[in-house]
Amino acid sequence: MPFLPASIPGRSHETPRNAVLIVALGWLALALALAIHWSQLQASHRSQLQAAEKQIQLRAAETAHALAVQFDALIGNADYIARHLAEHWAGPDGRTFLDDLALARSALPEGTLAHVLIADPDGKVLFSSAGADEAAATPSVVGRAYFQAHGPAHRTQPFISEPLFDRFTRQWTIQLSRPLLRDGHFAGVIAVSITAESLSLALRRIFPGPADVAALVGNDGHYLAHSQQMDEALGKSLPESSPIRTERNRRSGSFEWRPPLDGVLRHFAWQRAPTYPVTVIHGLDKHEALRPVLAVLRENTVQNAFGTALLVLVAVAVSAMFLYGHRQAARLATMADQLELSLEAGGLGTWSWEPDSGEIQFDERWAAMLGYAEDELPHQLSTWESRIHPADLQRTRQALDALLQEASGSAEGEYRLRHRDGHWIWVHGRCRIAARARDGRPVQVAGTLQNVSARVAEARLRTALLDQSAAAIALFTSTREIRQVNARAREIFGSGGIDPVGRNVRELGLHVEWADLQTMNRHYATLRAGGQVRCEYPLRDASGRARWFDMHGTPSDPEDPDSDIVWTLIDITERREAETALATERLRMVTLLERYPGGVLMEDSAGTVVMVNQKLCELLALDVQAVRLEGIPHAQLCSRLGEVHMRWLHLPDAPQGTEKRHTIEVSDGPERTLAIEWVPIARDTHTLGRVWLVRDISERKKREAELARLATTDTLTGLPNRRSFMASLDAAIDDARNHPERSGVLLMMDIDHFKRINDRYGHPVGDTVLQHAAQVIRSSLRQSDTAGRLGGEEFAAVLPAIGLKDGEALAERLRRALADTPVRTAAGDITVQISIGVTALIGDDATQLLSRADQALYAAKSAGRDRVSVST
Ligand code: GH3
Ligand code: MG
Ligand code: MG
Repeated sequence: MPFLPASIPGRSHETPRNAVLIVALGWLALALALAIHWSQLQASHRSQLQAAEKQIQLRAAETAHALAVQFDALIGNADYIARHLAEHWAGPDGRTFLDDLALARSALPEGTLAHVLIADPDGKVLFSSAGADEAAATPSVVGRAYFQAHGPAHRTQPFISEPLFDRFTRQWTIQLSRPLLRDGHFAGVIAVSITAESLSLALRRIFPGPADVAALVGNDGHYLAHSQQMDEALGKSLPESSPIRTERNRRSGSFEWRPPLDGVLRHFAWQRAPTYPVTVIHGLDKHEALRPVLAVLRENTVQNAFGTALLVLVAVAVSAMFLYGHRQAARLATMADQLELSLEAGGLGTWSWEPDSGEIQFDERWAAMLGYAEDELPHQLSTWESRIHPADLQRTRQALDALLQEASGSAEGEYRLRHRDGHWIWVHGRCRIAARARDGRPVQVAGTLQNVSARVAEARLRTALLDQSAAAIALFTSTREIRQVNARAREIFGSGGIDPVGRNVRELGLHVEWADLQTMNRHYATLRAGGQVRCEYPLRDASGRARWFDMHGTPSDPEDPDSDIVWTLIDITERREAETALATERLRMVTLLERYPGGVLMEDSAGTVVMVNQKLCELLALDVQAVRLEGIPHAQLCSRLGEVHMRWLHLPDAPQGTEKRHTIEVSDGPERTLAIEWVPIARDTHTLGRVWLVRDISERKKREAELARLATTDTLTGLPNRRSFMASLDAAIDDARNHPERSGVLLMMDIDHFKRINDRYGHPVGDTVLQHAAQVIRSSLRQSDTAGRLGGEEFAAVLPAIGLKDGEALAERLRRALADTPVRTAAGDITVQISIGVTALIGDDATQLLSRADQALYAAKSAGRDRVSVST
């Protein structure tokens, strides 16, 4: 295996997971070491701090001790004065006493002694160095603490009172008092007042700043003097819990406290004075005192933190490098594995050939492809060449030569190799220059070999199957170039032996009209959006003829809409032509129907409306566009009509195939008549559908009625003519025969001397006279009577249901009416007279009756005219 890292088979390499574990462990160790270091550092800092604090305590204790001694001496001085003055007290006027007082005052520092007071055993003030005013203002000291201490409590030791604010001197004073004793008996008190300010000043001189303070307190904890804020301090006491107040037997001690006076945390040392009941407390500002130590420790911490950070940074860098190294190693290993896997998965055999020596190396997969073990084949080029199919040998050699002569960067191709068993296998070979000499000459060619027999067989099968298809199938690239076609597509689109493969739609001139291209673009858009498209589209075939195709397009890769498109085309030219012909036919039919004067409804055998014209809608009073009715069932159409109209479109009951065309006439209102013709459409005995033809025949009907009327009417007078009258007479005779009670009379009338009118006034005036006579006759008769013109100036009337007498009277009224109404003519008024023969409507037939009436008429004429004669 010359191309694979030697370590691949069965190799194991450290995975990055292990590396991460190692790094994690390293970090753990580092964290542990740092934790130990830092805890030691903290411990060391703590002990340094403790030592510093001890130093502070020591310093404070020493100072407190020194101060206690100093203040003990100071108070001792005051006490000496008290004792001395007490001894020399002999009354307020004693000369020596005042001298001694002046001496004592000068013995103390300036401003220390405030004043001296002496009281008798009852507390009455005997002497006050402040003068008579004060003595008067404070006549008794019975209430004062020192008097109570020495008097009632018999205290012989000096007493130091709480500071008192002197109203006269406006300053704080402290009284050191002693009892006056006479023969061992209480004889009063002497109180020496010292200013608190002088004591505080002594302290302030030592501790001028606000950080470190010192104070003098009584054994009850009340402040006597304070180095700072004296005015605030005096009158206040240390807390009850303070050891100075609680631990009376102890002489000295220390505590930490944050005095409410200034809120600064201090370390306090306290020391009771050796002689007097006062205690000195000295407080060192802890923060200030420890500042240098803390600064050193902080600096030390920073240095250590910096060192730690540096260490961590280095560790990070080392870890990153370590992990990177391992990841690279793992990646390399993975790549090698992947290469091996892909070679294996692809069934790729590898080989390497050195053109100079002619030696060829190949791996076991290469050999196995031909049925050999790796070491069974000689490592010579002939091992390969001798197995190439003769038909492929030249082509394969040429490709290799081209590669060696730099004609191509790589070479690949498919050819056949003979298997050990003797059969041929199809292989796909790929190779390229793997190494060159200094002069650029190729010295190593590397390649792969893959057995593609299965694919080739499959491709052949696919091609065979595709070629069997009656549909034309073509694979188009996204640039609409044909990549592959089946036999049918080649036959349709490959003109004059030109292969359509590799040509695009434009080159092949496939589109019939360029406008179609827009449509095709839309189809492509649909295809991309929906994954497929189905359309009917015209394309030009190889002979230039436009053909219609039912086209179905799908992407070759359904996941990728930009992949090649597989178009399946089915030639539907004939169907399209038939459809076009049908459409033309239909158009003709529609045109014809729209021009047809009547309404037309056409239905198919299932009763679905196929065609309707607008005229039908009008005739059936359907307010709808005719085309809207197409496609609806017969019943639905009927439901849109009224009940009457619905009956017009009634389907005949005859079984299918035996239906005969027939016409019905229906009246649609008084003025309109429609003829509805029903025509079945049938071939042989199969009913294909039916047609209703609806025509408006009102006009024809009217004409017919008019003709009928004309045939029975006398045109000049409008009375029924002779024929019509005779029919009425016959009917009346019949009726009288059947119903004798309805029997009536017959009148026969003739205008007198009509010839003369004609002769005198002319024929037209004669006509006017005839019309006048007819009108008078009609208006003189009853509704049920019928008059007619028998001819010339002869008229007749049949009067049913009337007796002979009444008939005669009616005739007489008629005669007189005519005689009384002259005719207005152009020639002036003309009086017309008439003779009437009357006979009862009894007898055999019309002829006999007419004859009898005629005889009566004749009798009237004979009797002188203008009269009525009855036939008896
Ligand atoms: P009589 O009193 O005896 O009935 O005498 P007459 O003149 O009325 O009777 P006659 O039969 O001699 O004459 C009838 C005339 O009526 C003869 C004819 O010319 C005239 N005549 C017949 N038909 C028409 C017609 O339609 N119009 C006109 N103006 N004259 C008619
Ligand atoms: Mg006559
Ligand atoms: Mg006449």
